[in-house]
Amino acid sequence: MEAKTSSWKFKAIDEHQRCSRCVLDTTVSDIWFDAAGVCKYCYIHDEMERLHPLENMEEALGKIVKKIRKAGRNKSYDCIVGVSGGRDSIYTLYLARKLGLRPLAVYFDNGWNTETAVSNIRKATDLLRVDLHTVTADPDEFRDLQRAFLRASVPDADIPTVYAIHSVLYEKAAKENIRYILHGHSFRTEGTSPISWTYMDGRYIKDIHQKFGSGVIRSFKILTLPWLLYCVFVKRIKEVRLLEYIEYNKKKVDEVLKHDLDWVYYGGHHHKNLYTNFFQSFLLPEKFNIDKRKTELSALVRSGQITREAAITELEAGSYRYERSVVMYAIAKLGLSLEEWEHVYYRAPRSHKEFRTYLPLIRLLRLPIWVACKLRILPYILYLKYASP
Ligand SMILES: [Zn+2]
Repeated sequence: MEAKTSSWKFKAIDEHQRCSRCVLDTTVSDIWFDAAGVCKYCYIHDEMERLHPLENMEEALGKIVKKIRKAGRNKSYDCIVGVSGGRDSIYTLYLARKLGLRPLAVYFDNGWNTETAVSNIRKATDLLRVDLHTVTADPDEFRDLQRAFLRASVPDADIPTVYAIHSVLYEKAAKENIRYILHGHSFRTEGTSPISWTYMDGRYIKDIHQKFGSGVIRSFKILTLPWLLYCVFVKRIKEVRLLEYIEYNKKKVDEVLKHDLDWVYYGGHHHKNLYTNFFQSFLLPEKFNIDKRKTELSALVRSGQITREAAITELEAGSYRYERSVVMYAIAKLGLSLEEWEHVYYRAPRSHKEFRTYLPLIRLLRLPIWVACKLRILPYILYLKYASP
């Protein structure tokens, strides 16, 4: 089903509703549906599909690789790849090398990664002969920030890690004069995380930290808007989602990675990291009624990798399963007593809208952001997700 931006018609939501095309539903508070019951995130998918049609991808990939090589001439590296040890980031690194690029791998260690993930990174960078730059967070400081997000009672409790990764990639790129940051994200397999489920920006992090944390954040830079603008317009740093230029089949990719890089699967999605495991399998579904499987399953339904019926069957077969030992480990590692944990856990959920963020400014700058996206200075998903009506 092809959706057209000009025909967007919204229907008021008064009861539980599931998208007629994917499996996202009204547990996403920012969702809307058109007259045919197709959701906002299906529209975003179609817009992304229109911008990245698979039929022209080989040519487009050739062009982008040429640009990256040209920008990296006479430099030690022509791009940066953020690695976490998971399938998507390791395959991005693998692909970059296969395409003849000279990446620098950057790894942010938040102290929660599993041994499997760390070993995957080590093996991949050794076998692909890629330099690895590791940034290790100060454990006390990082835990303090994680606790601050839990105390704030927002569903964005994994944002410190996601944001820190983003921050160290930009900082390294700016410092080394590397113009391209390659990502392992793909809207076809991962989907777009709803804004009411995951929101992040520098002002938001600062506000939560000031209200619920202590001390100063030194492990990574809080990216202010002026600094980001400097990176985009002066340093001309661009993010490229390499996996959106290829047909990406998870099973086939797993085989390639196992065979060529001795890569080892780590279990559930994003469970290469114990905090993410705790957060996605326990905290989000149990406290916030957020089941992240819906985002990924919806993406797979839209890109034809599974049927909508199969996705519904999987969701209805049971809720996200969590391990009690992981939850207990996380609470202990966060340095919370059981009493404090209960207090945090039973606090009423809040939204990023109740805190200071750059969102009002982004909405105000909608038009220039749209122009920058059209000129491909900024990724179009930025406009669709944050600035579009
Ligand atoms: Zn949908």
